[in-house]
Amino acid sequence: MTKTARAAVMTAAGMDLEIKEYPLPTVDQGCILVKITCCTICGSDVHSWMGRRKAPTPMILGHEIVGQIVELGAGVTHDSGDRLLEIGDRITWTIMDNCGKCYYCREKELMMKCRHLKKYGHDSCEAPPYFSGGFAEYCYITPGTCVIKVPDNLTDEEVAPANCALATVVAGWEAAAVKPFENVLIQGAGALGFYGAALARHYGCGRIIVSDILDHRLEFIKAFGATDTLNVKGMSDDDTIRAVRDLTGGFGVDCVLEVAGIPNLIPPGLKCLRTGGRYVEIGNSSPGANFTYDACDMVWRRLTLTGIHNYDAKHLQMGVDLLAMNRGVFPFKDLVTHRVNLDDINDGLRIADSGEAVRVAVLP
Ligand SMILES: [Zn+2]
Ligand SMILES: [Zn+2]
Repeated sequence: MTKTARAAVMTAAGMDLEIKEYPLPTVDQGCILVKITCCTICGSDVHSWMGRRKAPTPMILGHEIVGQIVELGAGVTHDSGDRLLEIGDRITWTIMDNCGKCYYCREKELMMKCRHLKKYGHDSCEAPPYFSGGFAEYCYITPGTCVIKVPDNLTDEEVAPANCALATVVAGWEAAAVKPFENVLIQGAGALGFYGAALARHYGCGRIIVSDILDHRLEFIKAFGATDTLNVKGMSDDDTIRAVRDLTGGFGVDCVLEVAGIPNLIPPGLKCLRTGGRYVEIGNSSPGANFTYDACDMVWRRLTLTGIHNYDAKHLQMGVDLLAMNRGVFPFKDLVTHRVNLDDINDGLRIADSGEAVRVAVLP
């Protein structure tokens, strides 16, 4: 008899997820079957669940996944860091499976824009191998996925958000090309903001200013390297710009990371840059995020504006390395503030939507 396993399935947007059983797939060449040990809930899972963004159904949401190898398909011997893989190893993997040879994969290093892209927690689970997302007992990893063996010193909960939140911030960080001693502003003290602050500290930035509207988040982010925090609730844009300039000798910051997903933050954020500054837009990943800005200011002050969506495999590895190297430096383990099991997944999604949690862990 074929063994079955459970998954929380979205049958329609806006509806609670339902627990369903599917047969476990036979493991083909180049594939891996993983028993999931932890999946954290990303903001985009909540957006899909609430119907704020288009998603095919039925679907198993969840992409910030960690698990243990149960079965290795023929030919799978090493991870993307050339480390030997064995049954029982803990691994995480890229959010996407990409072909590696289309125009975007080969010519542009934009594997997240692959012509044959498949994303965990984003595709229909209607047909075998079914297990394509993280809110389940198992996940089936296909050959175009980059797998990373998890260092022994990291817990499942510490490493799970690396797959999306952390790797995306690392991609943004690389795009910003921040140099040691430069000053940065991070707009938003959510999971991405916490990782952004830790990266900035790790890379030796000077001022690491974080803005948000929640005092408890701003207090907490100081443990991740923020040197200055700004509660911008009730502050005018002019006040925010003045505060950032005052903290940076009157110049403004060299780089801004927008990770709050609020389009109205972009114009004042651009104004917070000093001449030659770089603005990295990460947070606004739902359509309709319009803003207005004087292009002349961008021209005269030589500003750069870059959009970052997802990441490349190397950014996931860099994220895992950052966690492993700085485990005693920053309290990464405290980013998971709530835990639910698979049966209570809808409660977990509601907690994630409330903004109460930094990350909710789903422990099957
Ligand atoms: Zn491709
Ligand atoms: Zn995500």
